Amino acid sequence: MSETHRRVLLAKPRGYCAGVDRAVQAVEIALGKFGAPVYVRKQIVHNTHVVSELEKRGAIFVEETDEVPEGSVVVFSAHGIAPQVRDEARRRNLVAIDATCPLVTKVHNEAKRFAAGDYDILLIGHEGHEEVIGTTGEAPEFIHLVDGPGGADDVQVRDPAKVVWLSQTTLSVDETVQTVSALKTRFPQLIDPPSDDICYATQNRQAAVKAIAPDCDVVIVVGSRNSSNSVRLVEVAKDAGARAAYLVDDAGEMDERWLAGVTTVGLTSGASVPEELIAGVLGKLAALGFGDVEEVEAIKERMSFQLPRELRK
Ligand code: SF4
Repeated sequence: MSETHRRVLLAKPRGYCAGVDRAVQAVEIALGKFGAPVYVRKQIVHNTHVVSELEKRGAIFVEETDEVPEGSVVVFSAHGIAPQVRDEARRRNLVAIDATCPLVTKVHNEAKRFAAGDYDILLIGHEGHEEVIGTTGEAPEFIHLVDGPGGADDVQVRDPAKVVWLSQTTLSVDETVQTVSALKTRFPQLIDPPSDDICYATQNRQAAVKAIAPDCDVVIVVGSRNSSNSVRLVEVAKDAGARAAYLVDDAGEMDERWLAGVTTVGLTSGASVPEELIAGVLGKLAALGFGDVEEVEAIKERMSFQLPRELRK
């Protein structure tokens, strides 16, 4: 009797993007340069493991800058901040290190530029997400949030001939296309952003999971529940043909019942996930008979960003 051939298809690229790598390094270097504690406003990146590792090394995570003692060092997270947060840090004499991803800053700059030109800005994104709050803070009186294709019906603008759309960096590419199409039905003169706002890392990880999903009985996505790009990978995997897809923070959250009758498992991780968590899941899969691992590379990725200005001196 021949044994069933169980295998893992490992998506590439996966895991850390250049913006997350830079933000985590910023906290580590700040700890080395200034000593503990270093305060971090919000989760530096949306991953519980990364946050707890940095806590062990002396980082203190706070929700708002008014929780940081005057004169202390504070790092702003990769998701970006509204200008009011920067002003408040200055008022409190904080040593501020801005780890906002340059690709989020790009969207902030677009928002400022279109607001200065008196455009209504339709920002496609998820209500309450930190990045959306930060971008909206650049021009609150000009920005209207559109949360998915359904949000296109209600949005009101001053002049339908002077409207532009921008987006959160970590959305589903396919769903954003649908939202833009719904918006263009309402506002035929809607202007596109000068370049893609959904970042290279989000796009590449979605392309990579799409490449493996049709061959997978189940796809496991490693990432935290508050990580927008990780949650999107689960949706993309299902839409692309995986019979099931699950989000886990680490190997401990895997349920062996997911693998009953399965021959091919897909595996990927969100942009804020360190590779050691993938290694943990691969170890558990191997113990369950899925020791044959094939990495499937959809796109080559070579992006890196300079450290925040405050740490380059
Ligand atoms: S997911 Fe994209 S926007 Fe977010 S930190 Fe990574 S590269 Fe920057």
